[in-house]
Amino acid sequence: RTVYLNGEYIPETEAKVSIFDRGFVMSDGVYEVVSVLDGKLIDFDGHQARLNRSLDALEIGNPMPDADYLAMFRELVARNDITDGMIYLQVTRGNPGDRDFAYPPKDTPQTVVAFTQSKPGLADNPAAQSGWKVITVPDERWGRRDIKTVQLLYPSMAKMAAKAQGADDAWLVEEGKITEGTSNNAYIVKGNTIITRELSHDILHGITRAAVLRLAREAQMTVEERGFTPDEAKQADEAFVTSASAFVMPVVSIDGAKIGTGTPGNVAARLREIYLDEMRKTAL
Ligand code: PLP
Repeated sequence: RTVYLNGEYIPETEAKVSIFDRGFVMSDGVYEVVSVLDGKLIDFDGHQARLNRSLDALEIGNPMPDADYLAMFRELVARNDITDGMIYLQVTRGNPGDRDFAYPPKDTPQTVVAFTQSKPGLADNPAAQSGWKVITVPDERWGRRDIKTVQLLYPSMAKMAAKAQGADDAWLVEEGKITEGTSNNAYIVKGNTIITRELSHDILHGITRAAVLRLAREAQMTVEERGFTPDEAKQADEAFVTSASAFVMPVVSIDGAKIGTGTPGNVAARLREIYLDEMRKTAL
C-alpha cells in the first residue's frame, strides 16, 4: 500500500514518525475518515471543514490549503486503486524537542499522515439488512467531544464491552441521556419524527448527521434535536446510527430489548437510500 506522509507518497513500510511526536506521546492530533464509493470521495467538503475546525479548536497550525488535501486524497485513491473503501487522515502537532505539556509554537511542522483501506462493496454492507445490537455504557470521555481528536481509548473500551456482550456497538449515556455511539451519532424514530441529540460540546458534529438531517427535512420528515433516554429508545419504533463509514445503519436492539419489531425499520432504510443516492451524485 502507498501511504502519504508529510508531502510524500511512500510504501507503508517506509513511513516513519518520530517517537517524540505529540500525536504519539500525548494523543495531540486530529483525524478524519472519508468514504470512497466508485473511486470518489463522499462529502469531502464537510470533512475538510470539520478538520479545519478541529485544528483551530486545538490551535494546531494547518499545514496545507483545502485543495491540497483533496488532491492528496485523490492521488491515494488512484495509487491504491480504491473503488470502495475509506481514507484515514491524521494531523498531529508534531514536536521538534523534548516531551512537554506546553505546546511548541504553532508554526512547528505538523505531521500529516493519510492512508486508504479498501472495502469492496462498502455500500452493500449486509449489516444494513440485519441491523446492529447496541448496549449502553456510561459516557466517560472528556468534555470536548466536538473536536475529532485521536484520543479514542474510552470509545475503544466501550466497543470491547459491546463485543464482550455479543453486541455491535455501545451507546454512551450521560446524565440519563444518550450522547452518541462509540464512533457514530445515535437516533430514534417515533412515528414520522426522527430524534437525535442536539449539537454541543457533548457530541461529535457528525458530517453524516448533518447530511442525513438535511435530507430528512427535505423529505418532509420531522426532526427533533434533543437528548433521549435508553428507556425512550426501548419504546421507539426504530433506531439507527450514522457515520461516514456505516452511512445509515439500523439498530434493532438496545441492552437486549427489541426496538420496534426488532428488525431494521423503514425510516432508516429510506434514509440510507436517500443518503447514498445524494452522496454518490455529489462525490468528488
Ligand atoms: N460520533 C463519534 C464519536 C465519532 O467518532 C464519529 C465518527 O467517527 C461520528 C459521531 C460520526 O461522524 P461522521 O458522520 O462525521 O463520520
